[in-house]
Amino acid sequence: MSYISLANWAMATDPYPQPATYRPSGKVNWARYLPALILALCMSMIMAFVLCWAFIHDWYYSFFIPAGAALIVGIAMRLAGAFGHCRSRLVATLAGALVGALMYLGYYHFHFVAEVGQRGIAHVDLLPRFIKWRMQNDFRVGRNDKLLPPRPPSNWIRFGIDLALAVTIVAGLARSRVGRVYCESCGRWTRKHMFVAAPGIGQILAEALKHGDIEKLRTIEPYPVGFLQPSTPIDLEYCPGLGNSQSHCFAYITVSEFTFSFGKAQLRKFLKQQTLGANQLLALADKIPRLRSIAVLGVATKRSDQPKRLSITPGEATAMITPVEDSSVNVAFSTKLSVIQFFLSLTPIFLVLAGGGLLYASWAQWPRAAPLGTGDLLYFALLLSLGVLSLAVGGTICCVNLEYLNYRYTHRLTRRLIRARPDPIVDPDDPESVFVAVVPRKNWTKLNLDDPSDRGFLLIDMRGQQLLFEGLRERYRIPAKALISCGIEPIDVGNHLFATVVRARVSGTGIDLEGRQLAWAGWEAPFRPRPTRFKRPRLLGPHSAESLRQRICQLLPEVEPTAPDPVGDPGQY
Ligand SMILES: [Zn+2]
Repeated sequence: MSYISLANWAMATDPYPQPATYRPSGKVNWARYLPALILALCMSMIMAFVLCWAFIHDWYYSFFIPAGAALIVGIAMRLAGAFGHCRSRLVATLAGALVGALMYLGYYHFHFVAEVGQRGIAHVDLLPRFIKWRMQNDFRVGRNDKLLPPRPPSNWIRFGIDLALAVTIVAGLARSRVGRVYCESCGRWTRKHMFVAAPGIGQILAEALKHGDIEKLRTIEPYPVGFLQPSTPIDLEYCPGLGNSQSHCFAYITVSEFTFSFGKAQLRKFLKQQTLGANQLLALADKIPRLRSIAVLGVATKRSDQPKRLSITPGEATAMITPVEDSSVNVAFSTKLSVIQFFLSLTPIFLVLAGGGLLYASWAQWPRAAPLGTGDLLYFALLLSLGVLSLAVGGTICCVNLEYLNYRYTHRLTRRLIRARPDPIVDPDDPESVFVAVVPRKNWTKLNLDDPSDRGFLLIDMRGQQLLFEGLRERYRIPAKALISCGIEPIDVGNHLFATVVRARVSGTGIDLEGRQLAWAGWEAPFRPRPTRFKRPRLLGPHSAESLRQRICQLLPEVEPTAPDPVGDPGQY
């Protein structure tokens, strides 16, 4: 009782109190949830119809078919909860149970209508009697298509289990969606960012977070994930409005430990959706590089107790980042180009399929009885050679590099656009230049994480002691002295795809956290070298990113490469 009144008092004084862990507020946006619920109900009626159809056609298998249908309706209920901003476990569970039960009972009603005709549609009152009748008459087919006599008790048990399955699956799926963090001050769902660290780190990190000594932690490096390998998944749920000074947004961290031993997988949670303030998040990002792009979001605020952006003292060497103002971006990042790239990626697969189809066609049409005429011979020779050619070309591209056509097209387009410029700082035809894509950190969390913001040519200029980049969007001129670091970082959740990240001093960037400068919050460019020749690239693993890093570091012997911390597995890098 006292706890509740205390909570009410806290609510009255601060409209957005900072809770230790996330709790759903229990609110629902009914204006959005009700229409979405009606659509989910329509989905459940469709699945009821499918169940009925399966029963009539003898495809109804207890447990499996209703569970599959419930899964689909459950997903619809999750979408409804997301769209309707449903933060109430009770509402989601009850609505899910109701929709699941309606799906299963709807199947019997559809069957009833199928038996008695359209006049049965309105007679829902007869449904209990129909179900009872079904339970007394449902029979099973035994071996040798022998009909077994109906056994009402076992029919009732199946009915009960199937109904319970439908209700629990739909309600469970709908309920679990409510557990996602919702930002009450912005009125939106948070985004989820997942990161995987080496096994054993979970407990250390959870303790450090509980006692507020994140500073003492060592850098937590990304850990390459293998199937069913022990690891430490770390989830960060954050509001995209984190940087808005008017909002009261938090980030929430979940730390678990995944173990797999004696055939048993176990996920142990050390922290569940624990609140992080902007300062805590920055301190944590100092230790977990992957969280940096999110932590920097919170620094845009200009409050005095918040960390500040640094300015550069005059006279210091700084990198020059200038936008290129011509039409290249409109050409190279258009929807039309995305469509072309998509089809170019699929072309090798089409070729393989077409080749297989042609070979099959010639086999199927081959006249087995009559001897071949000259015309037939020509026709089959053409069909066979086209089939073999298409299969060989498609198969080779698929084996060597599925994306080759796409890469080649993009490379040529970029080269053409840059060569048309009057003043490029890197010549695309220079054999020393490297064709790269710039994949900003914010895109690392996307589903298509290899989504570049820029493409262009990078030159390590030894004589001029500088790093030059001529991109479609921007142009970088980075003197060796302005470089802060150059290292490789994995960009995917599984830690298998790498980028070469270059950091440099640019005026007006960098963050000061309680007197300590966070170099990583400054300007950076994550480069991904793109293959331009027709050979098998080593897509997984750090090879191409590492060789680019070595080239950049060779230009700058005085720059310390950011070596991975031995906390991770150094052998993997
Ligand atoms: Zn927010």
